[in-house]
Amino acid sequence: MTATSKPNLAGLSLEKLRVLFADMGEKPFRAQQVTKWIHQRGVLDLDAMTDISKPLRDRLKLTTCISLPRIVDEFASADGSRKWIMQVASGSSVEMVFIPEAGRGTLCISSQAGCSLDCSFCATGKQGFNSNLTVAEIIGQLWWANHELGGFGGRLERPVSNVVMMGMGEPLLNFDNVMDAVTIMMEDCAYGLSKRKVTISTSGVVPAIDRLKDFTDASIAVSLHAPNDTLRSQIMPINKKYPIAELLRAVSGYMDSLGDKRVPVIEYTLIAGINDHRQLARDLATLLQDFPCKINLIPFNPFPQSDFRRPSSSAISNFRQILQEAGYIVTVRTTRADDIGAACGQLVGIVEDQTQRSSRHQRRRELVAAHGKEFDSTDNLAVAADSV
Ligand code: SAH
Ligand code: SF4
Repeated sequence: MTATSKPNLAGLSLEKLRVLFADMGEKPFRAQQVTKWIHQRGVLDLDAMTDISKPLRDRLKLTTCISLPRIVDEFASADGSRKWIMQVASGSSVEMVFIPEAGRGTLCISSQAGCSLDCSFCATGKQGFNSNLTVAEIIGQLWWANHELGGFGGRLERPVSNVVMMGMGEPLLNFDNVMDAVTIMMEDCAYGLSKRKVTISTSGVVPAIDRLKDFTDASIAVSLHAPNDTLRSQIMPINKKYPIAELLRAVSGYMDSLGDKRVPVIEYTLIAGINDHRQLARDLATLLQDFPCKINLIPFNPFPQSDFRRPSSSAISNFRQILQEAGYIVTVRTTRADDIGAACGQLVGIVEDQTQRSSRHQRRRELVAAHGKEFDSTDNLAVAADSV
């Protein structure tokens, strides 16, 4: 059995760990013990898991692995945000961003390397699709953020209070892995995040939204960006396959299944001269009049391969006002971390020379210095990194 074909304990939900231990003839509570070590205490070395007997640890070492992706670079924004670049097994890199705010810390994580959906305003889309992230690569982003931000120290409050799947990729096109990762985020003996604090953002993969209720009760955000099919299809090709009426029907079905008072967030990236006209705000208000939701306006974040522009602040506030006067709760997302290329839609996952080099932590060099060699792809890097 090669190292890579062994089940990776860091990417198994409690339920899947229970099955693994049952197959080994072990008691189900072992699953909880291992989950706590990895996701609550941040421990990845089986020998440090002291409540597991030595013979069982030795068996686990032979038949399983504990492996997380590696961080290859890190950036710190002047506004306190942090961005990490991780290398995943396919060889691509993905990005995750931590945004501290008063009373909460939000981690924006990736679900795919690249994206196949090619929205015209998104840097990730311009890159095309590279690979689906594994469960360990998705949950590994939360693990690393906790590791880097001191979240495994047994403090009552963990630095990451909210997770949004708004990084690179379309979460619902990596359905099974995203569902397992979200389950681990919400498990009490892992990260214990509430269903209100884990948000899956989707561009509208209707068949996957229809299946969602059978797998999770996480919160949902929907990238709408236009109030009619003609315009939406121009900027989001997926709309040609799943038009607005079908999308809203699927989202309503999911919300009904939750049986609580949560409403979805409608995301609307405002692009100058494309979808920021006042009439479009009125049309949006009409479109959503029977669809309980909150609206989040995201001023377009520019990136080199795009000619689109961000609207003026008066255009943004006019758009907002029309929606507010129609009775909607509207927020305008403040741009964070754009000095490190980490604002919405700017994530490209390429390790490139940034102008903020001085604020860059030389993670790779630190790891190499600490361990005396470059890690190769079969190394259980996380075990090594745990001691960094
Ligand atoms: N694929 C998912 C999640 C990742 S994108 C989705 O599309 O919802 C997360 C959010 O960032 C989406 O609402 C997306 O429309 C928005 N976004 C993408 N590019 C952007 C840009 N250049 N400026 C502002 N927001 C952008
Ligand atoms: Fe993919 Fe979302 Fe970017 Fe569209 S906005 S290309 S769905 S990551």
